[in-house]
Amino acid sequence: MPVVPTYFQKEMPAVSLLSEAPTATLPIRKHKFPSPTLRLFLHDIAHEGSSIFLSNIKGNEDVEAQVQNVLNLLYSSECERPGTRSVTIVLRSMNGVAYTTGIDLDHDHKELHINLDYIAKTGSPKRHEVLGVICHELVHCFQWAANGTCPGGLIEGIADWVRLRAGLAAKHWKQEAEGKWDGGYQHTGYFLEYLEQRFGEGTVRRINGCLRGKDYDEKRLFGDCCGGHKVEDLWKEYGEELKEKERTKADDGEAPEPIPTHAAQP
Ligand SMILES: [Zn+2]
Repeated sequence: MPVVPTYFQKEMPAVSLLSEAPTATLPIRKHKFPSPTLRLFLHDIAHEGSSIFLSNIKGNEDVEAQVQNVLNLLYSSECERPGTRSVTIVLRSMNGVAYTTGIDLDHDHKELHINLDYIAKTGSPKRHEVLGVICHELVHCFQWAANGTCPGGLIEGIADWVRLRAGLAAKHWKQEAEGKWDGGYQHTGYFLEYLEQRFGEGTVRRINGCLRGKDYDEKRLFGDCCGGHKVEDLWKEYGEELKEKERTKADDGEAPEPIPTHAAQP
């Protein structure tokens, strides 16, 4: 199950469901940030993916809602964020799922490319998945990246952590602690959620803030944001906690889940 803290779930607003998906646009917003100009560029209106996108995403609500989710999760005030002034969603056939880029003229203008073939063929509830992809890519429009020196795994982990917190985790996501902490995407995203639970609300926001305007320094970053700990030790402790939970589950059979101390529930 994706981790969505109950205090995010309480005030779920009525979302206009334009199709099948019981998805969430959750109110995690303390601030109303000024929104960038939001645009849509549709390469092929005759593509099945275009119809799915247009019938599942409500243009005057959904993208703006995700912008506010992203900004509220990464920043507590307007002056902390990069100066992104416009985001253009480009729908076209291409390889992969999606990517974000700045335009040559000015990196404050972002293009968020989504593959129409992917939208057409994804088996997940379409609205939930498309909103999840938009949310993930919007993080790339607004996050800091240590002057381009931040490891890609942490960049992608922050993007999927925001997606997780926005209630838009993909159905196939699984919490595990194999390999390295910065394996990226949900693998790192769930670890960041563990850090957020352990060191308090705003931990990931502080990590993102420490990636502003200076080169990547892992020891300093996690030392400053996670109580002086080394990230490798935290990763090990995270793995042990996950294992312990698995053991408890197996031992207890149908017994109720123990109340977590600080780790995210699997
Ligand atoms: Zn990404």
